[in-house]
Amino acid sequence: MGWPDFKPGMGRLRSLVGSTPALFRQQFSESALELPASIPSVDRLLGTPAVLEQTERHGRPLVLELVRLLLAETRAGEHGRLHPQGEFDEAAFGAQLSARIGMVVEASQRRVLNLTGTVIHTNLGRAVLPEDAVQAMVAAARNPTNLEYDLARGERGERDKHVENWLSRLTGAQAGTLVNNNAAAVFIMLNTIAARKEVIVSRGELIEIGGAFRLPDIMARAGCKLVEVGTTNRTYLGDYAQAIGPRTAALMKVHTSNYAVQGFTSSVDEEALARLAHENGVLLLSDLGSGTLIELERYGLPHERTAREMLLKGVDLVSFSGDKLLGGPQAGLIVGNKGLIARINKNPLKRVLRLDKLRLAALEAVLKLYADPQRLSQALPTLRWLARSRDDIERTGQVVCAALKIAVGELVEVELVSCMSQIGSGALPTDLLPSVAVALKPNGPGKRAGRLVEQLAASFRALPVPVIGRIQDNRLLFDLRTLDDPSIMVSQLGQLDIGNVGR
Ligand SMILES: *Cc1c(COP(=O)(O)O)cnc(C)c1O
Repeated sequence: MGWPDFKPGMGRLRSLVGSTPALFRQQFSESALELPASIPSVDRLLGTPAVLEQTERHGRPLVLELVRLLLAETRAGEHGRLHPQGEFDEAAFGAQLSARIGMVVEASQRRVLNLTGTVIHTNLGRAVLPEDAVQAMVAAARNPTNLEYDLARGERGERDKHVENWLSRLTGAQAGTLVNNNAAAVFIMLNTIAARKEVIVSRGELIEIGGAFRLPDIMARAGCKLVEVGTTNRTYLGDYAQAIGPRTAALMKVHTSNYAVQGFTSSVDEEALARLAHENGVLLLSDLGSGTLIELERYGLPHERTAREMLLKGVDLVSFSGDKLLGGPQAGLIVGNKGLIARINKNPLKRVLRLDKLRLAALEAVLKLYADPQRLSQALPTLRWLARSRDDIERTGQVVCAALKIAVGELVEVELVSCMSQIGSGALPTDLLPSVAVALKPNGPGKRAGRLVEQLAASFRALPVPVIGRIQDNRLLFDLRTLDDPSIMVSQLGQLDIGNVGR
């Protein structure tokens, strides 16, 4: 198979193994002449024992693609070192193929250790599920379930019913519904209630979260007209009252999840807003963001407004996330007035945004844990980590610190330090939790401190279970709040390669 024939497949090959720009640079250059004298044909290589073994394990199509790719790279002069005397070395090629296949078949989404100090970390997958929820998900994954089947009557049922009763019990709501995430919940709520109408929001609450969730954009796509009132720091009841007109469908409160307006501020409580809304025949909606179901102060944490509290204040519909403080799977939960929930369920978008059986199973199991608040702080990882005492974290810290000192030797200074963890994902943005971290500081020259600590962080990310910390003042911090079992961290330190740190 000649070089030109090879080109059409390259796009796909490159996407599998990452780009090989050198190949393209050299494609027409003289260096292509520095090849091993005889490069075997693809067919011949496929018959060699090393390649046959890979075919046995991974199937012919993948092996064929990678053999072609590696041969093309070799022809382009990329792997001269493997075939030093200009003789094609089949054994070396086999080993190279095996390594490349390993890179391709390794799971892309992998377990990591989140030692960043942000407990609910969006980039690291937010809430970790309790064991009950994991079991429920596995059972639902392995088997058919009565997802939309009423076992008593033997007829079609409703998928949200498995969770709705729990939602009502835990929030006092008349009804509830579920969608893909809280962004979807806000979207379908607005689209159902206020399409082609106006929704009034305080300028102090026009949030952007994580780059892609901007309330004004969601509102526009939901077909609503946003009416902004007040100023960034102060909004009064009168501002809302003045803005209400014949086209107003709702007032909306949005939890300022990832910032706090401090100092000279004023905002209007839900109770007063609900009264105003209802006097004018419009609705009050609330995007609660993190939305917890329990009083967090009973676990020594700062108060975060609950869905029940919002409903008691007269809010008509409240939406919140399943995988933030709630500690469950990704989901958007909407609770409130029965008639309004029924309207949301009739919106064709509900079908677009519905939850699958796995997440419904996990959510049901998580909500069930809330029935027993005594056990909750042990059973729910998110809450357990948030409520964990500094002393307990320090005990884990001592074990990890001692092991790290041995692992990094002279190159890096290791010490236990006090630090602050954050709750994350927009919950209680200004409340920090006292914690303990292991701090690592490379001993290299000061002017290279920034680069050295980056290299150190990279070497921890390269471990079999990548360890993710945070960099602060040229030190790498591993906050131990979210590390239950130090052995997962410690047992892999023998594989830590910090060869390029401190040189
Ligand atoms: C997090 C958040 C959202 C988005 O929720 P997702 O579940 O991530 O879709 C929307 N509004 C507020 C106030 C939030 O905090």
